[in-house]
Amino acid sequence: MATDLAKVAKDKKIKYFLISFVDLFGVLRAKLVPARAIKEMQKDGAGFAGFAAWLDMSPADSDMFGVPDPDSLIQLPWKPEVGWLAADLWMDGKEVEASPRVALKRQIAKAAKKGMRMKTGVECEYFLINADGSAISDERDTQSKPCYDQSALMRRYDVISEICDAMIKLGWGPYQNDHEDANGQFEMNWDYDDCLKTADKHTFFKFMVKTIAEQHDLRATFMPKPFSNLTGNGCHAHVSVWDKTGKKNLFHDAKDKEGMGLSKTAYHFLGGVMHSTEALCSIFNPTVNSYKRINAPRTTSGATWSPNTITYGGNNRTHMVRIPDEGRFELRLMDGAANPYLLQAGVLAAGLDGVANKRDPGKRLDINMYTEGHKAKNVKKLPLNLLDAVRLTDKNKVLRKELGDDLIDAYVKLKMQDWEDYCASISQWERDRTLDV
Ligand SMILES: [Mg+2]
Repeated sequence: MATDLAKVAKDKKIKYFLISFVDLFGVLRAKLVPARAIKEMQKDGAGFAGFAAWLDMSPADSDMFGVPDPDSLIQLPWKPEVGWLAADLWMDGKEVEASPRVALKRQIAKAAKKGMRMKTGVECEYFLINADGSAISDERDTQSKPCYDQSALMRRYDVISEICDAMIKLGWGPYQNDHEDANGQFEMNWDYDDCLKTADKHTFFKFMVKTIAEQHDLRATFMPKPFSNLTGNGCHAHVSVWDKTGKKNLFHDAKDKEGMGLSKTAYHFLGGVMHSTEALCSIFNPTVNSYKRINAPRTTSGATWSPNTITYGGNNRTHMVRIPDEGRFELRLMDGAANPYLLQAGVLAAGLDGVANKRDPGKRLDINMYTEGHKAKNVKKLPLNLLDAVRLTDKNKVLRKELGDDLIDAYVKLKMQDWEDYCASISQWERDRTLDV
């Protein structure tokens, strides 16, 4: 029997529940529901007007309901009387196919039918900035190569340790925190898990980091490229596929002829991801700003750490895919704006297509892509901007088949509107270049 949230509220002294969902643009939205009303909400869901969020809906549509998943419950570490719940969206008695968590659950169900379970870990980079977002918050964080800077890390000990303590309390298994490659940038790592759990944690992590930062009079941002001269915020994912018990890693093969410790299934899955990367790019790199992180000129630290081509290598961070260890690969394309659920759904959909069609990722490249990229022949490049990326998503047959037309049509429509909004704005750069022409 499903967990009874009304009983949980009593046992854990929860006064309010946040029944939340993430829309297609990755915005976390919620209703705050008193425990007295949770019994009905658990059954029927909390009502929302879909048009008010970034979903392809109209004001004339019926109510949309967020039905909470009791397994996702997290008591806010900084306010345990509030319980956070991830919800699945329903409308007119059906799940909303063009909604992120539902889309991921469909891919998980498809994988389960084939005896597969994807496990992932995400590396969410973020900046601590000032209140108006114009600069990093620590004036003394100025090294040209600031990665792992101990003093800059320790000047933020209070906020970082509070976030890490919260993850320990939640049982996420956090194991390291560091200052990343840009001034003002940090990363915190916790254990990998089933991909739905990782997506829920990823969603909650962003909320938690922003909230705890605010409580310390700071502001946290996951924006892909907030400062043009500094390394951007990536969201690398480590991917492996396991059998249905979750005990046997189907990606691992100690006898791999290539010496990478990957199985045929792993290579086919990777082949699928690489086959569909151009089309996935608008999902993994979903904003206008995202394209200023990938394909970017070198930053002041010496490298962007982000890919510009669809290639894979061994333990080599200049490629889109790195194989750091046996039995998994790291996909380095995604950025901090990626929707936590669509990120996982996109990887799984493309990977399953790769396994079904035995897609070949080709030979790994052992060169430094940043300095020797021009030597690589027949290498596919990433789209240069959001418009190109969205068009590639729109016409891609694999994604349409795997993720469904409802989701792709909704996503493409909203992202095209996003692009048009961007085109309607006139930047200072344009004025500087054009006023006196
Ligand atoms: Mg990193």
